[in-house]
Amino acid sequence: MDSPPGYPPDIQPVWTPWVTFHVINVQKENSLYLIDTGMSGAIPALKRTLKNRGWDHLPIRGIVLTHGHYDHTRNVAELVRETGAWVAAPRLDKLHCEGRFPYRGWSRACGWLEACGRRCLGFQAFTVTHWIDDGDSIPIGPGWTAIHLPGHTDGHMGYLHAAQKLLFTGDLFASFGALSHQPPRFLNSSPHQIARSLELAASLNLEGILPNHGWLATPARHLEQLHRLAGRHRDREPS
Ligand SMILES: [Zn+2]
Repeated sequence: MDSPPGYPPDIQPVWTPWVTFHVINVQKENSLYLIDTGMSGAIPALKRTLKNRGWDHLPIRGIVLTHGHYDHTRNVAELVRETGAWVAAPRLDKLHCEGRFPYRGWSRACGWLEACGRRCLGFQAFTVTHWIDDGDSIPIGPGWTAIHLPGHTDGHMGYLHAAQKLLFTGDLFASFGALSHQPPRFLNSSPHQIARSLELAASLNLEGILPNHGWLATPARHLEQLHRLAGRHRDREPS
């Protein structure tokens, strides 16, 4: 299987019904890295995808989390046990990663959903080996930088590959064509920061976006949706 249309050959999305996550193949290391880990059913989907790409013989060396929500972290412990991978996560999402975040206001619904998910679908604690702050280099090869995009969670982080002009945007927004939107209010811990984060992402010199929620589309199409959404926010700002 080749890379999906519009994707660079070293990046492979793993599509599952709830959430997409991504595999990066650092060819000169013969190593794989994951950006997030998906939810129930994601590990079989990951294994199928790696087999189809012919990457199933390569070791997974590291897992980088965009934020600490359940649908991005559910499989970390199992994957670490299977592969010995290190885990990197935003420092400000420490309590999310530990399942101890004190949700307030509307976002208490998010805490309730996560608690239900943990109880019904399972969750195992994991150890974060690298805490990430804004501007940090990411240990998956040269040229990767963390871009703090708070709002969905306090620590929510994008990951930029400057040479490829690609940005992994986590849950900054959901990319569904004309229906693209920022995450619903009850899923955001600090929603007042989202407009600024959209603006920051839209200001970067990019050729593509890789979101965790969205329709199947090329990174360039997802970038168009980011610009459209940021533009809508800008139009709503009082002049
Ligand atoms: Zn989330």
